[in-house]
Amino acid sequence: MKLEYTYEQLLEKNKNYLWNPFTQMKTYLQDDPLIIARGEGIKLIDVKGREYYDGYSSLWLNAHGHNHPVLNKAITRQLDQIAHSTLLGSANIPAILLAERLVGITPDRLQKVFYSDSGAEAVEIGLKMAFLYWKYRGRPEKSQFLSMKNSYHGDTIGAVSVGGIDLFHQAFERLLFQTEKVAYPYPYRFQGSIEECVEVSLLELKQKLEEKADQLAGLILEPMVQGAGGMIVMPPGFLKEVEQLCRQYDVLLITDEVATGFGRTGRMFACEHEAIEPDIMTLGKKLTGGYLPVAATLTSNEIYEAFYGDFEEAKTFYHGHSYTGNQLGCAVALANLDLYEQENLIRHVQEVSQVAAQELRQVAELPHVGEVRQLGLMIGIELVQDRISKQSYDWKLGMGAKVCRKARDLGLITRPLDDVVTLMPSLVSTGPELQEMIAIIRQAIIEVTEA
Ligand SMILES: *Cc1c(COP(=O)(O)O)cnc(C)c1O
Repeated sequence: MKLEYTYEQLLEKNKNYLWNPFTQMKTYLQDDPLIIARGEGIKLIDVKGREYYDGYSSLWLNAHGHNHPVLNKAITRQLDQIAHSTLLGSANIPAILLAERLVGITPDRLQKVFYSDSGAEAVEIGLKMAFLYWKYRGRPEKSQFLSMKNSYHGDTIGAVSVGGIDLFHQAFERLLFQTEKVAYPYPYRFQGSIEECVEVSLLELKQKLEEKADQLAGLILEPMVQGAGGMIVMPPGFLKEVEQLCRQYDVLLITDEVATGFGRTGRMFACEHEAIEPDIMTLGKKLTGGYLPVAATLTSNEIYEAFYGDFEEAKTFYHGHSYTGNQLGCAVALANLDLYEQENLIRHVQEVSQVAAQELRQVAELPHVGEVRQLGLMIGIELVQDRISKQSYDWKLGMGAKVCRKARDLGLITRPLDDVVTLMPSLVSTGPELQEMIAIIRQAIIEVTEA
């Protein structure tokens, strides 16, 4: 591959051949499209040589920075052995070792690991497992799913079915399977106290379970923070209650930790904040430190055993992807987890989140900032037309997008979620780096909203 193309040449090829995901190509191609050439630590460098903070850690993936020598080495070492062999009917060394490792660090109930290549697939697998579990247990009527309004679980059809973001999901409605939905507590948009907000949400959940538990295979949710839904942080106590209700009504609890997992919220997994034990957990994103596409669905021995039997019983889990258990991916995931330990990364996230929280106070005071939400290094800044009335901007104004575009001019890349400006930096970001990133976002908000 020839490497020395000019920006203009690449842009022309981007325009002619490439369709970017979650991107309005018309807008993108008109506005100085960003073409990344390299990464160095927590920064991205584009083809024109401009340097930016990677404020979204390359879509919530990167843990230790880009171009990390230890992770690079883990891949090349594995490459000298083999890049890939299938996990369908055979196994490989890094996939086995990584499975053991994941079982060791996740809640006790989770004892088996099923791999895939993306968070959405991990969710599909979790749903299929839960569905078949009840079938094999002799209760096939428990076949539906309960999920949360405003949730995001990925973009494949099953994951969209349990998702609840109208802007992304409504267009596909007729393709989706039917699900039950309940509200996720969102105190900022609730008339009343946080406690009342929690109470109302729990009551709704309880009523739904009372009415439908006999038909429900599982409840799926994003524990502690709804990510793509706008970084909505769960009030304390809610998750624990949800777990108890699931147990009480015999509905499997599926926690989607694709975004929150691996230290993002200041704990290795968000489930730890409330010491809950899900029946199924989905992992992705930072599982490989942001290097390669590996995802995993973890489950209990009880669910695993429902599938375990003689060949003629036809209880084999007929699901798999070509690259499932990829050796390069699993090898870098193992090195990634070693780094978490060696660098005491969770402690680091806890410390620097405090620095971020302090810096965010100045953002929270701006006249067009409604709520600043944060759990660990998962940060969302909600823009509003008026902070007193909490009146939103017309979404067509694209205020979130405008602020992020301005931030890019000021040296930081991130993406908005509607009118929520997000900051999801690499976990190794230092206090001063976070201060600088937040100062850039603050400046961008001022320049756009007070123009
Ligand atoms: C990103 C995300 C997914 C989807 O993961 P992909 O790897 O993009 O398919 C699923 N669930 C949550 C909570 C996510 O944030």
